[in-house]
Amino acid sequence: MLDRRPITDIHADLLVVGGGAAGMAAAVTAARRGLKVTLLERYGFCGGGAVAGLSGTICGLFEAHESDTAPPKKLVFGFVDEFIKRMNAKGGLTSPVRYGKTFTLVHDPLKWKGVADDMLEEAGVHIVYHTTVTDVLMEGGERIAGVVAYNKQGKLRVTAEVTIDASGDGDLAAMSGLDTFMGVNGVVQNPTMIFRILGVDVKRFLNRYGEDSVLGADVSEAIRQSNASGKYVLPRSKIFLFPTTRPNELLCNSTRVIGRDGRELNPINSADFTEAEIAGRKQVEEYVRFYRDQLTGCENAFVNDTGVQVGVRQTRQVQGVTTLKNEDVVTGRKSQSGIARSAWPIEMHSGEKPKLEWLFNDYYEIPYECFVPVKGESLLTAGRCLSAESDAMASARVTAQCFSYGHAIGHAASIAVLERIAPRLVDPLAVRAAVNRDGAQLD
Ligand SMILES: Cc1cc2nc3c(=O)[nH]c(=O)nc-3n(C[C@H](O)[C@H](O)[C@H](O)COP(=O)(O)OP(=O)(O)OC[C@H]3O[C@@H](n4cnc5c(N)ncnc54)[C@H](O)[C@@H]3O)c2cc1C
Repeated sequence: MLDRRPITDIHADLLVVGGGAAGMAAAVTAARRGLKVTLLERYGFCGGGAVAGLSGTICGLFEAHESDTAPPKKLVFGFVDEFIKRMNAKGGLTSPVRYGKTFTLVHDPLKWKGVADDMLEEAGVHIVYHTTVTDVLMEGGERIAGVVAYNKQGKLRVTAEVTIDASGDGDLAAMSGLDTFMGVNGVVQNPTMIFRILGVDVKRFLNRYGEDSVLGADVSEAIRQSNASGKYVLPRSKIFLFPTTRPNELLCNSTRVIGRDGRELNPINSADFTEAEIAGRKQVEEYVRFYRDQLTGCENAFVNDTGVQVGVRQTRQVQGVTTLKNEDVVTGRKSQSGIARSAWPIEMHSGEKPKLEWLFNDYYEIPYECFVPVKGESLLTAGRCLSAESDAMASARVTAQCFSYGHAIGHAASIAVLERIAPRLVDPLAVRAAVNRDGAQLD
């Protein structure tokens, strides 16, 4: 078999694969430092899990408190603040919405696409949308020199001094044969098909259920009883519903997409991914039927949209020089080489009831070396494919942190290119200083 079309050659200082929160932040940061940056993204827009997966909120910005009356206390700063400012200017973000013991901001995914385009274009990033990386170019068996990608024009060969794997799934690391791992013995958190409903009387809904987007025990009990009655099939009883920036709308994080055999599906497996899309869409119909029948304010609700794809929380992670431990999260461990911070709970989506384990009045730091693959040269990771144990990943994977990782790794890659050193030799303190200069307030 031979594709006879000419191959397009591109050379960049930095290649970023994936335009999720992490990849976008990395690309913009490095381009602002003067690097020639190419970003490849398989969809026609940025945002990844937050937009294609419709995750819907920017979690991870605020501290958690035991008291239900404590006001929001912001903890994460820097690149994300510019994103928030631009989203607010377009009316694309809510003010802080209560989420259990902390807060989150609900975003409009359509506005996200525009803000990401603007930031990338203004920084001078060469964006190539609708392009999927299919292969890596290796040099000397160790160095990742670039990638081969495919789009409707044909094949692209992109070479770079440094490459960032921000694919979420650690695609490049896996293609390069580097060490990767998945969940606990291959079992990952369940995917969720997120959806939005319109026609909601949001005022009556909030009067009845309160301001907390994590719905209470009474709703969970109603779901269990509905299942027991045999009238519905609702595999998740603890659900999150968020009023959005748009009138009469709720964003619904409530499905738990499992296989016909009851397994948590793993989207790295193409059969599981396909089954997840089909099962996810069916579950959306079932949950909306339940909302219409049983939730105050939702009597006339209808589905406005579902994610472009089922939301994927966890797949491959890349074995790093350091691995964020579960204990680091629960003890609020600070690190000498910390380049980002998080106070988000361990939010483990597995089983009928997602587990939330809180870290109160504190935060932990994520070391630079969690993004440096243990083997392989000229490659860094950014985003949810960081090296972290399973519970730690269930905390460290949310959007505000992915912006922070991208910001930091964009600086690290810039230092590597500008000083002509291997990414693994970049001093984490220099990265920390660089993000602090951009307002991250880590010290
Ligand atoms: C159901 C669900 C609900 C969630 N809810 C929330 C929430 O409420 N709040 C919150 O803050 N976080 C939430 N999250 C987590 C958050 O959305 C993700 O962890 C975050 O988006 C990860 O960002 P990322 O940049 O690491 O990766 P991703 O967002 O996964 O981005 C990776 C990008 O790489 C692209 N890509 C992948 N492979 C290739 C390839 N081979 N070639 C080219 N491009 C490629 C993808 O298209 C994608 O755009 C949720 C996640 C899920 C799944």
